[in-house]
Amino acid sequence: MKETLGTTGLTLREPLLWERGKEGRCGFSLPRRDVDPAPLDADLLADSLDLPDLSEVDVVRHYTRLSQWNFGVDAGMYPLGSCTMKYNPKLNDRLAGLPGFAEAHPLLPAPLSQGALRLMHELEHFLVEITGMDAATLQPAAGAQGELTGMLLMYAYHRSKGAPRSKIIVPDTAHGTNPASAALCGYRPVPVKSNAQGILPAEAVAEAMDDETAGIMVTNPNTLGLFEENIQEIARIVHRKGGLVYGDGANMNAVMGIVDMGRMGVDVLHLNLHKTFSTPHGGGGPGAGPVCVKEHLVPFLPVPRVLESGGEYVLSEDFPDSIGKVHAFYGNFGVLVRAYSYIRSMGAEDLKKASQLAVLNANYTKENLKGVFHLPYDRPCMHECVFSDKFQKERKVSTLDIVKRLMDYGFHPPTVYFPLVVNGAIMIEPTETESKDSIDLLIEAFKAIAEEAERDPELLWNAPSCCKVKRMDETGAARSPCLCG
Ligand SMILES: *Cc1c(COP(=O)(O)O)cnc(C)c1O
Repeated sequence: MKETLGTTGLTLREPLLWERGKEGRCGFSLPRRDVDPAPLDADLLADSLDLPDLSEVDVVRHYTRLSQWNFGVDAGMYPLGSCTMKYNPKLNDRLAGLPGFAEAHPLLPAPLSQGALRLMHELEHFLVEITGMDAATLQPAAGAQGELTGMLLMYAYHRSKGAPRSKIIVPDTAHGTNPASAALCGYRPVPVKSNAQGILPAEAVAEAMDDETAGIMVTNPNTLGLFEENIQEIARIVHRKGGLVYGDGANMNAVMGIVDMGRMGVDVLHLNLHKTFSTPHGGGGPGAGPVCVKEHLVPFLPVPRVLESGGEYVLSEDFPDSIGKVHAFYGNFGVLVRAYSYIRSMGAEDLKKASQLAVLNANYTKENLKGVFHLPYDRPCMHECVFSDKFQKERKVSTLDIVKRLMDYGFHPPTVYFPLVVNGAIMIEPTETESKDSIDLLIEAFKAIAEEAERDPELLWNAPSCCKVKRMDETGAARSPCLCG
């Protein structure tokens, strides 16, 4: 038990509550009895119930200590590329917790849910405005489910034209969920290579596009953090052959108020409310991946849809061409409240500023680490920048060693080995909510690690050394997980 000695209160070997319990301890005190005792029903005194006897303070400390083993955006910087782990203002959580929202029952009839329906209707309107599209559904529970919904919409559209088609073009800089969603919908993903600038050349799309291809899925900005500059030309090529353009808008925090996805040629796009629009995420909690569409896809949107007439909000299932439901009730409503609150509290000006800051912070990071780490695409980036371990490889230090060492410096590691187009990728997304001071600390930590790699690579091979759990056998953990004790 030596390692439990310390002054920080951080006990690293926390026993189970069962090991902590002492017979006779209890976590409540009742007022002194002033009536005669009545015997309890023997069945109620089930001895078989194996619960530990604990005081209130035992329990509070146990769970508080466990919570300190975790790392989250509220504890420190979390530059996990592609995931937008920005700080989410607590105001939005508070509003989602208002009893009128938190306790609203999804089976209440529309006349008794006017506030909730109005919020959903207005949120759809805001998202449509932010993206430059025509209509939206709030049902999908995550980005990937938004993609699947988008694919189903594409399928329904093509079927209504007489042929559902069989393939989807997916560039190598798309998010990994894109080809998976296309395949889940029965489409065959056709890979297309990005060029030396890290973006998609229009010619490659022209070559791949034919009458059997339903469309293209473009992540923009792409997973290299680069803006797909040929997107308008690409959209023209796809549309000319009767295809549709799917925009993966999970990275919308880079372009809010700056890019009009609709005018760019996108027909259908999803957003990640749990990235761009202020829902804490990272632990697999609820999210929302609303899908926005242009006019020609509106008839196929999931039902029920929220309609408004004369200030009254109703739910309508009356869309015969709809793809149906993609989520129970109306989606993850608490996430919708947070997004609504975030958008209303920011306003158009500040949303745009958030995007500008996201881009500025990523470029600042990129410029400061250029030369320290290999930068495969040396050009202005959007919300994230991608380095590789090419320089450190000479010292037999890999991306994994570098980011494990970063944990010793108190940062969550960035996304690694993704996108696949960069060998040993290190994908850093500082996000818009980090101050220059905290980004400078991250840059300093990375520089110190690069210097350690030169001087004493062993430090990195053995990292992390300050964390509760040291270097883990990640393959073993995935292949033969030990889930108890
Ligand atoms: C995160 C992300 C997704 C997937 O979103 P989930 O909510 O994790 O399903 C899709 N595309 C991009 C570009 C993303 O960053």
